[in-house]
Amino acid sequence: MNDYTIASSSTGRIRVEDKRIINCNADVNQLVPFKYKWAWEKYISACANHWMPQEVNMSADIALWKNPNGLTDDERLMVKRNLGFFTTADSLAANNIVLGTYRHITNPECRQYLLRQAFEEAIHTHAYQYIVESLGLDEGEIFNMYHEVSSIREKDEFLLPFIDTLTNPDFKTGTPETDRQLLRSLIVFACIMEGLFFYVGFVQILALGRQNKMTGAAEQYQYIMRDESMHLNFGVDVINQIKLENPHLWTLEFRAEICSLMQKGVELEYRYAEDTMPRGVLGMNASMFKEYLRFIANRRCQQIGLDVLYPGASNPFPWMAEIIDLKKEKNFFETRVTEYQTGGALSWD
Ligand code: FE
Repeated sequence: MNDYTIASSSTGRIRVEDKRIINCNADVNQLVPFKYKWAWEKYISACANHWMPQEVNMSADIALWKNPNGLTDDERLMVKRNLGFFTTADSLAANNIVLGTYRHITNPECRQYLLRQAFEEAIHTHAYQYIVESLGLDEGEIFNMYHEVSSIREKDEFLLPFIDTLTNPDFKTGTPETDRQLLRSLIVFACIMEGLFFYVGFVQILALGRQNKMTGAAEQYQYIMRDESMHLNFGVDVINQIKLENPHLWTLEFRAEICSLMQKGVELEYRYAEDTMPRGVLGMNASMFKEYLRFIANRRCQQIGLDVLYPGASNPFPWMAEIIDLKKEKNFFETRVTEYQTGGALSWD
């Protein structure tokens, strides 16, 4: 059956037990009966978290950026290289979902979430563009950093083969080898790209915000981090469901390969941290990021059922967890227009 085929009437009504996350032979057009309620619940929560970049007031950021004494040179370099990664990262993520992942996930409730996720990636790209435009940055410089700054280019070059696998029109799942290729790409995308490669950047802008600098950008990054933390959790649920339905894919050899990819991801993200903060800023230095990335990588491994890679790694930025925990504080989002917000919508997971 194709990705979009309507099942013939001779196959009868679709039953929950016919639904599978990959390689499903049942009609993919029927949302109900639900099998994966977690996917539908994430779709509902994501819609309740809707926000738009232009709702965030950037005037304090603009004044600070224009003031020659507003930020140090190191802080300015950090902000620009931060945006240099993010301005293209979410386009990459959107293309990966729309042109790749979506075709291979043969379950309508998961596809419903992926449609929402794709739009959120567009909102994030919009947010970064809005920040670049508000601050009057050189757009050519920022949007080309993924070609021109090696620590950014290397992150993207690491990701591209895994995205290319899924977006290749000739790629089809259905054998242990191709199913493993899909699973590998899903893990790289959720756990390394969205789950690791975003975190140096999140810490940097939120650290500025904590010092009352770039507060508009920091507010946008808070919304983005909330969305991304749901993308990651959805990805982890999909990965674990595929493992559950296809235990033969999860071999020792495959697990070892995933661990080495994770280690490579930590190295690349650490190099990006050094390159964005050559002298350290805001009381943070590259070695704190090394510890933080190890802490995060351990968490990602645990989420998909692997042993931790860096035993004993601790979190040098406990305030990041506090920001995530601020979800219940109403005044956390006080500066935004609230017409999309409904009861209980400030949940991060
Ligand atoms: Fe994402």
